[in-house]
Amino acid sequence: MNALAATRTSMEITGLEPVLARSVTVLGSTGSIGVSTLDVIAHARGVYGAHAMPIEALTAQSNVEMLAKQAREMRPKLAVIGDETLYGALKSALSGSGIEVAAGRQAVIDAAARASDTVMVAIMGAAALEPALAAVARSATVALANKECIVAAGGVFHRALANSSASVIPVDSEHNAVFQVLNGEGAQEVEKVTLTASGGPFRDWTLEQMAVCTVEQAVAHPNWSMGAKISVDSATLMNKGLELIEAHFLFALPVEKLDVVVHPQSIVHCLVSYADGSTLAHLSAPDMRTPIAHALAWPRRIASPSRRLDLAQVGQLTFRAPDHERFRCLGLALDAMRMGGMAPTILNAANEIAVDAFLNRRIGFLDIPRVVETTLNDSPNANASADTLDGVLAIDARARELAAGICRRVVN
Ligand code: NAD
Ligand code: MG
Repeated sequence: MNALAATRTSMEITGLEPVLARSVTVLGSTGSIGVSTLDVIAHARGVYGAHAMPIEALTAQSNVEMLAKQAREMRPKLAVIGDETLYGALKSALSGSGIEVAAGRQAVIDAAARASDTVMVAIMGAAALEPALAAVARSATVALANKECIVAAGGVFHRALANSSASVIPVDSEHNAVFQVLNGEGAQEVEKVTLTASGGPFRDWTLEQMAVCTVEQAVAHPNWSMGAKISVDSATLMNKGLELIEAHFLFALPVEKLDVVVHPQSIVHCLVSYADGSTLAHLSAPDMRTPIAHALAWPRRIASPSRRLDLAQVGQLTFRAPDHERFRCLGLALDAMRMGGMAPTILNAANEIAVDAFLNRRIGFLDIPRVVETTLNDSPNANASADTLDGVLAIDARARELAAGICRRVVN
């Protein structure tokens, strides 16, 4: 090796400089996806050099201690706490660090609007909608883990994308898998896209067992370690329902071309079938750091610390049809997708309220589909359409009120 080559950093030798120079903002850095994102970035810095993927901003809702620790380790320019009352706590936790501090809902949106190349949207729920739109509006690359914002406001999201040059790279494992398989081709020749579902912790439970399950049992996912809300969604299969709607919007696929198959091992993430009878699949170990690394480096690839696939150890890959009778949320999501209009917005809002009530032990597990169905039936505006963000937010807020009332009635 000559002297010049010897002084090059490993970052330069890889030819990945443009990818590794990208600045990243992580919205929801203290959550499951947020932590995995920082792990991927820390790994990249270890492999390619400390300057890889500089961080513009980290945001979290209420975990000051963890956010401050992440900020000291990862050196963002800005750290934002969503809960305004925690400004003082974050400010003192980061005193002397030179890291800018801000607090409040608007500060989270402003963090997304601040110049950075990539914005990882890892906030939970429809609360991600406005920050995600702020990143789209300034034509950032949006690594989208959050699915609720697409379900709640697919039309508004599409229009915002059409008016900017933002790119959306899906991070949700199934959608990231479809994105990789399609590889920039349109979905026109696609006959069917099948998303796989693990079936969750209650895959083989009876309705009687599910009726008395505990919160701890519902969040104990067999394959994935995730935030509480998505873990419950995986147990009800609402997660797969939301993902069908997400795929419908992200890939412009009609309902008839979308399917779900239960695959307990979570190794195959999607199947894309074409008119000539070919089916292409995407496989990886169930580890979100793989789609996160893909989204951060796209269209290149970077080293990731994720688990590797060992098919001999897995042994068997099995598949079966989902059971709509035991998992009614899947059918409710399909109905909402077929209905269109504001039905997906209402479905998502009602589900967020019902899951929160379940996590706080105010309703039972099987009440979740009841609350969602009753909210959809009782909503006067399910067939309406809303072209604006304010219109969507108004319908979302109304559905949340309705669902909260239904949750109260369910227990009385
Ligand atoms: P989580 O609950 O572990 O973390 C959520 C993050 O969002 C936290 O940092 C929290 O501080 C922040 N947050 C919560 N409410 C907020 C609000 N109102 N305003 C601003 N920030 C807020 O959630 P997660 O499991 O990491 O999931 C995040 C998103 O990614 C969800 O939309 C989920 O469906 C999606 N997703 C997650 C996984 C996974 O493996 N965890 C997989 C696929 C998709
Ligand atoms: Mg998923």
